[in-house]
Order: sequence, then C-alpha cells, then structure tokens
Amino acid sequence: MSEPVDSLIHAGWVLPIVPSGAVWPRHAVAVRQGRIVAILPSDEARLRYAAQREFDLPGRVLMPGLVNLHTHAAMSLMRGLADDLPLMTWLHEHIWPAEARHLGPRFVRDGTRLACAEMLLGGVTCLNDMYFFPEAAAEACLQAGMRASLGNVVIDFPTAYAADAADCLKKGGEVREAFRGEPLLSFTLAPHAPYTVSDEGLSAISALSERLGCRVHMHIHETADEIEQGLKSHGQRPLARLQALGLTGPNLIAVHAVHLTEPEIDALARHGCHIAHCPASNLKLASGLPATSRWLQAGVNVGIGTDGAASNNRLDVLGELRLAALLAKGVSGRAEALPAHAALAMATLSGARALGLDSRIGSLEPGKCADMAAIDLRPITTAPCFDIASQIVYAAGREQVSHVWVDGRLRVEDGALAGVDLAELQALAAHWRGELQPTA
Ligand SMILES: [Zn+2]
Repeated sequence: MSEPVDSLIHAGWVLPIVPSGAVWPRHAVAVRQGRIVAILPSDEARLRYAAQREFDLPGRVLMPGLVNLHTHAAMSLMRGLADDLPLMTWLHEHIWPAEARHLGPRFVRDGTRLACAEMLLGGVTCLNDMYFFPEAAAEACLQAGMRASLGNVVIDFPTAYAADAADCLKKGGEVREAFRGEPLLSFTLAPHAPYTVSDEGLSAISALSERLGCRVHMHIHETADEIEQGLKSHGQRPLARLQALGLTGPNLIAVHAVHLTEPEIDALARHGCHIAHCPASNLKLASGLPATSRWLQAGVNVGIGTDGAASNNRLDVLGELRLAALLAKGVSGRAEALPAHAALAMATLSGARALGLDSRIGSLEPGKCADMAAIDLRPITTAPCFDIASQIVYAAGREQVSHVWVDGRLRVEDGALAGVDLAELQALAAHWRGELQPTA
C-alpha cells in the first residue's frame, strides 16, 4: 500500500546541504502539506509513495532554495537610476531625493512584486528585506508566495514613511500585529545604519529586540568613511558603540561589515553575531574588500545578500555566491578559501541560521519546509559535469534554475513563474520608469 503525498520530485541529484558535502544521485524528495516527508532513492520512492503530482527532473540538481540575507526589494524600481557613484553621493544626491518624491505603499508593493519575481526565477525562496512601508512589502511577498523576513526600518530623519525613529517603531509594531501568524512571514528590527540612528533609538531597539526575541538587521562598517564619521561624532568606532548599547549578540545581522579589525572579527564571533555578506554591492560602491575567509576562520556565521537592485544591480544570489567564493580566494591569497560546498551552505543554511529560521529552512531534511530550487545542469555551458557543487557555483547561471517551490508550493516551473502575469509586471516597471524620470 503506497503512502499518499502531495508531490514527489525525482531529480538527477539531490544536494541537501545537510549532511555537509553530500550529493545523492537519482534521489527523490517527497512532500506533504508543505513539509519534506522523506528523501530517498527514486526507485524506492516510486514504490513507497503515491503522489498527487510527480516531477521527473533528470539532469537537474535539487537543493534548498537560496536565502537572500540582505535586500531592499522595492528598490528594484531604481535599478540603474544612479550608477558608478560612491555610497554617500549615491544616497544623498540620488536615492534619498528620489525616495522623498516617490515613496509610498504603491511604490513599495510594485517594486517588491518585481523583486520577488526576479528572485524566484533565480532560485531564491526567502528574502530578508529592509525598506519603508513593510506592510506593502508583506502584501507583495504573500502575493508572490515567497518567504520573507521584513525589517521594521528605523531612521531618525523624517521620510515619506515616518516622522522619526519613534514613529518608525510604532508603525513597525502595527505591521507585526497585522501579519501575526502568517507562516511565510517573520520580522526584524532594522535600524538603517549607525549614522542614521541615535543612541536613544538604538537603545530602544536593543530593548525591543530582547523583549520580542527578534533579529536586528543593520548596515554596519560598510565604508571607511562611516567609521571616520563615527569616530568624529561619537568618539568610537560604530561597532564599539553598538556593543556599548547592547546590540552585539546572537540577534545581530551585521550587513556588509567590510571594515573590521581583527579584534572586531573575533568579537562578532564571540557574541554569536551574523554577517550578511554582499560582495557585488561592496565592489560596485567601492566600499572595500571584506575579509570573508577570516570571518569564517573566526567562526562567524555568514550568509549572502544582494543588497538592493539600485546598488548591485541583480538580485541574483547564485551569482553573488560565486563572487563571494572568488573574492574570498583573491583577498586571502588562498585558492582553498570558501570552496564550492561551503559557498552553497552560506547562501542557504547560514542565511537561514542568521534569520533564526534554520529549524525550518536552509537544508533538505525530513520535517523541514519544502523550500527548494532545481538547477538544470544539462546545457552545454555546464557540461561535462564532474562535480555538482563546483558546477553550480562556478559555471551555472540563474537562468538555469528550472523549478522552485516555497512551502511545498510550485512557484517556478520549467523556468517560468507559475500563475504570474509577466505583462502586468512589465507594465508596472514601465509606469515607474516614467514616474522616476519623466523627461528622459
Ligand atoms: Zn543595504
């Protein structure tokens, strides 16, 4: 008697991330009610399970969905608006003025919808977002069927979203309440950066994070200029200031962390902090070269982020993890730094761990949510295939993602978004192109 399941997915290979380094040829994943029931050889699976829907994916590798540990999803509407500029010029002269004119719930909903479509097509199943109007981002993520951790952005100065830090926190509380119990959504507190939030705001966030048990998602030590500013205005480096305010603990997701001293790296490891590594953004804004290999040696948990599409300009975690692996080798002078399997773990399980979601996502294991991506290794660009992990990290592109499931639901099938009207998304992009730059 066969056991009923919702889906049975037979893949050329299953790369589960746990156990580390494993690649299982001709295996199947059985899914029931959004959860992985079993992973076993395809031949056995066909005998044991009767599936409502069976997928046969020879030549494809099934792995956990990618986790984008840092993005500003709605900024996809500003992709290419202002390129080839340093961070502060980019922010002060282009991004913040554009946001002052156009930011609102509709901007965020439309931009996040575009970003979710792009990310799902690239095998990303979970994003950690930091942007204004998180309620609009929540609606867009739920509509797209993506898992999301939404940041309660906090910034001292008035924006189209809120009057000040206290107003940001009040609005964030309302959003957490409104979406409480949504299985795909979780929330972080997201102070923008040390230079945009006062000690008072950061102390309130530290206390709230403790009380709610939620993560603090924050840009930290992104540029040398930020550290100089911190020394001038507070008499200490930003990380030391955060430590004094009680923010450096296992709840901290430090985004970028490009400029760290050796003792600062050791302190992040000792306190159980996480780093969201965004290599393309760091290179594009010329922020600097992070010491990824050193972070890992110290024992810091490191995930991968794309940052927003205005500073990358791709929400392509697969491309990002390749860049992370190459950069780690180049910066450390050691070709063995960040090998392929470790890079894949960084973009899946480590990202999930940073979000506190590793008991549910980040690896393919019975009992976990069926957040999965299949990558097609049949094209000649990935042939011949000697080593599956190497092929994914160093040779494959996101256009080779063929299928994506979030919580057991099929979101991408044969390289196309399931149930999404692409023409409608194109029209949204065209509308905002006209709004943002009407004279061009
Ligand atoms: Zn960012």
